[in-house]
Amino acid sequence: MLNLILFGPPGSGKGTQAKYIVEKYGAVHLSTGDIFRANIKEGTELGALAQSYLDKGNLVPDEVTIRMLQSEANKYPDVQGIIFDGFPRTIPQARSLDHFLQEKGETITLMVELQVPDALLKDRLAKRALDSGRPDDADPKVIENRLHVYYDQTAVVAEHYKEQGKHYTIDGMGSVEEVCTRIFSRINLSV
Ligand code: AMP
Repeated sequence: MLNLILFGPPGSGKGTQAKYIVEKYGAVHLSTGDIFRANIKEGTELGALAQSYLDKGNLVPDEVTIRMLQSEANKYPDVQGIIFDGFPRTIPQARSLDHFLQEKGETITLMVELQVPDALLKDRLAKRALDSGRPDDADPKVIENRLHVYYDQTAVVAEHYKEQGKHYTIDGMGSVEEVCTRIFSRINLSV
C-alpha cells in the first residue's frame, strides 16, 4: 500500500499533483482543507467550528482535525493507498497518523515535500483566487498568515519524517507535468 504525505506550503501544488498520483496509483486523496471546506459548505457542526480558523488562515485545533482525518480514512478500508494532502501539519498530528496507521499494520511510505520560493507561492495563490472561490486565497493578509503558520508550525513536521528516513524534497517549479514526472520517479523508488 502507498501511504504518501504530500507536503509543502500553500500554493506549492499539492492538490494539483494529488489528482495525478491518485490516478496512477489507484489511491484515495484525503485533503483536510477540502474536507473542512465541504463541511462549511454543507453547514455542518464541524464546518461551523472550522470556519473562523480557515477564514484567518490559522490551524484548526489538532483534536478536531485528527478525529476528522481518522474517520475519513476509515471510510476506505480496502484502498491501494492514501495520499495525505494538508495533513499532518503539526507534530501531534504526525504522531497520531503514525499510530493510526501502525494499528492497521500500515506505515507512511514516504513524504514528498514540494519546494517553491515564497514569491512564486504568493503569485500562484493570487491567480488561484480568481477561480478557486476561496476567501483565504483572495486576501493578501490571510495568505501572509498561512505562509507564516506553515513556516512556524508545520515545516517542523518534515524533521519528524527525516528522522524516519522517509522525507524527500522535490523541485516544485516548472510545469505541472514536469513536477508530476519528478514525483512519480521518486515514488517508484520507494514502492
Ligand atoms: P488547505 O486547503 O490545505 O490550504 O487548508 C485550508 C485551511 O484548512 C488551512 O488554512 C487550515 O485553516 C485548515 N486546515 C487544513 N488542514 C489542516 C490541518 N491538518 N490542521 C489544521 N488545520 C488545517
